Amino acid sequence: MIRAACLALALCLSSGTARAETRDLNLDEFVAANLIAIFYHEFAHALVDVLRLPIFGQEEDAADVLSILMVHENFTEESARDIAWSAALGMRGASDPDRINARDVAWWDTHGPDLQRFYTMVCLFYGADPGGRRSFARGLGLPDQRATYCVEEYQLASESWGPVLDDLYDAGAGETMRFKVRGRLGLDARLTAEIVRREVQALNAVLSLPEEIDVVVENCGEPNAFYDPNYREIIMCVEFADYLASVAP
Ligand SMILES: [Zn+2]
Repeated sequence: MIRAACLALALCLSSGTARAETRDLNLDEFVAANLIAIFYHEFAHALVDVLRLPIFGQEEDAADVLSILMVHENFTEESARDIAWSAALGMRGASDPDRINARDVAWWDTHGPDLQRFYTMVCLFYGADPGGRRSFARGLGLPDQRATYCVEEYQLASESWGPVLDDLYDAGAGETMRFKVRGRLGLDARLTAEIVRREVQALNAVLSLPEEIDVVVENCGEPNAFYDPNYREIIMCVEFADYLASVAP
């Protein structure tokens, strides 16, 4: 797979004091990192639909797996750590029992519980480079009982999604993902629009899909992001940014 230099300009341009596990991010950087991880999660749903991929398990889990793989593969180590760290904390923040919506776990939901998704993200990112990311895993509280399996979990993830991505990269650059803004967006939508536009541009520069898909930023009336197979659209709702800011540590 191809390692692009630095997809998330917002993160790459930032400077900060390096800590053992990651550096302190400001709120915009935290939100931007989460938006990138969420965008790649939705990208996975699009691939499952467009490529008719077999998924042996919960599709939501497979989408989380691709998201972390893309973060590991497509970014410099420092940016990848920042994104993975922030995305994991965003997931953990959503499960904070002090949050009204988090008090009752929706066991019936298509998504796994947020806290389990948090540990899986940390595990996969750690498992991709256990020697270099031990402090990352420790800093996020990954227990040894789970860490034992992370290298194998990452290898399985890489062997599952890797050939899918390799086919897309082999198809070369193209314009098969179309970035769109729908409706009038307020100034508060600028971060979402800019992050998503850059990610689409960066993907188009290195890969092509067999079918075109749209990536739309719009007001949805709820903090969400989803893939709509009827229109082959990834929808990134501008309301998500405020929600992500509310779960920042
Ligand atoms: Zn999903």
